[in-house]
Amino acid sequence: MTRFIRFRRSMETITVTQPVPDISGNAFLPPVALVPFRQDSHDSAHPVVTEGTRVKEGQLIARGTAPATSRIHAPVPGMIRSFKKISCPDGGTSTAAEILLSGSFDILGRKEENFSWKTSPESEIIRILEDKGVVSTFEEPVPLVELIRDAKKQKKPVILVRLFDLDPTCQLDSILFKEFPDKVVEGAALIAKALNIRSLYFVTDQDLDTGAITRAAEPMEAVILKTDTRYPSGNRKQLVKILPEAEQNRPGIFLDPSTAITAYEAVVHNKPVVYRYVFVSGPAVARTSILKVRIGTTLAALIQESGGFTSPPSRIITNGLITGTAVQDLSTPITKTTKSVHIMDKESCPDYTVHDCIHCGRCLQVCPVYIDPMELVEVIKNKKIRQKHIRSIESCQHCGCCTMVCPSRIPLHHILKNAREAGFREEDK
Ligand code: SF4
Ligand code: SF4
Repeated sequence: MTRFIRFRRSMETITVTQPVPDISGNAFLPPVALVPFRQDSHDSAHPVVTEGTRVKEGQLIARGTAPATSRIHAPVPGMIRSFKKISCPDGGTSTAAEILLSGSFDILGRKEENFSWKTSPESEIIRILEDKGVVSTFEEPVPLVELIRDAKKQKKPVILVRLFDLDPTCQLDSILFKEFPDKVVEGAALIAKALNIRSLYFVTDQDLDTGAITRAAEPMEAVILKTDTRYPSGNRKQLVKILPEAEQNRPGIFLDPSTAITAYEAVVHNKPVVYRYVFVSGPAVARTSILKVRIGTTLAALIQESGGFTSPPSRIITNGLITGTAVQDLSTPITKTTKSVHIMDKESCPDYTVHDCIHCGRCLQVCPVYIDPMELVEVIKNKKIRQKHIRSIESCQHCGCCTMVCPSRIPLHHILKNAREAGFREEDK
């Protein structure tokens, strides 16, 4: 299927081919799992096992010294062969436990439990979400309980669930909601219960059966809001604009279907986060599919499960073609935050050279927040950042529209993101 993604500002459109995926169920179990100790945007968790330890499926293998680091569990039973430094799908590195698969399974094949969260205290739901290591993947990955605890300190926080993808080329969240609507809605409702909130917002960019959402959210009240399909529509700043005016300045928790399903599995079925759904696609892979993949499965194993390469890959990109990250190493593992893997070929994603800016102004015309990416990149390069530039860099939504249209192939939004993450030196201000 061909999809036209229209930018929110200007008439620019990009065209992407989106084959319909097989919902293929469980991927095969990796004979070796590489489980990074850093699976959110905080510091690494610390191992509570040593090399040579035998671990059960779902056993805790690492936890943070601060409460805000998510817990890490063994995705497969086996023996910890080593701790080693590896590349992560977000482009960084981490120490990982290398687990050799062996022994029996404690979760796979077990009769599913059904925990009645509706009659449980809020503290018990929060304890389970923390214990099972649930990470929010709405934007920067952080432990979900960190968001819940912060929100609990606020007066009347809002919960909003985006039912579509932040990056429309990623596709996972839209498909998860279509395939498992009840789990997504119930997962969000139990988070509302943890916060003692009686109603929550669901935002869609499609026409939906709103009655089904309302029923699945019970006993919470579901309010369904509609946005358009222009890009970007799904980041926090865009979503806040469609809330009722009285709600727009209230603090809140924003959720995606991936997080809601993980919370549902953790609380209702008592499952630690040892797998996640991943969308695999691209012209250089045989099969487009959505697989339930064990954390720690390497990209090489995932691509093999999807029928292997059909042509030499030019680039492998995780979490969407517009805002995602290029990954070089096929031994990079799937983590709690991997949503999609695109395997591109030379025709769709040829090698390119970055050229100097030709001052065409196209980046300026597409920016949804009316900032000047070309000027910002220039001042970052020349270390001439002033307060007004800092304000502009901080208002960037990292949507990538500017980069997509730049004829000189300057990675504008990556430069702005890196500058923001690095912080601004006093002398730059
Ligand atoms: S500068 Fe930021 S907000 Fe503007 S188009 Fe680029 S990435 Fe999007
Ligand atoms: S789109 Fe690229 S080449 Fe054109 S003005 Fe912006 S940075 Fe320069």
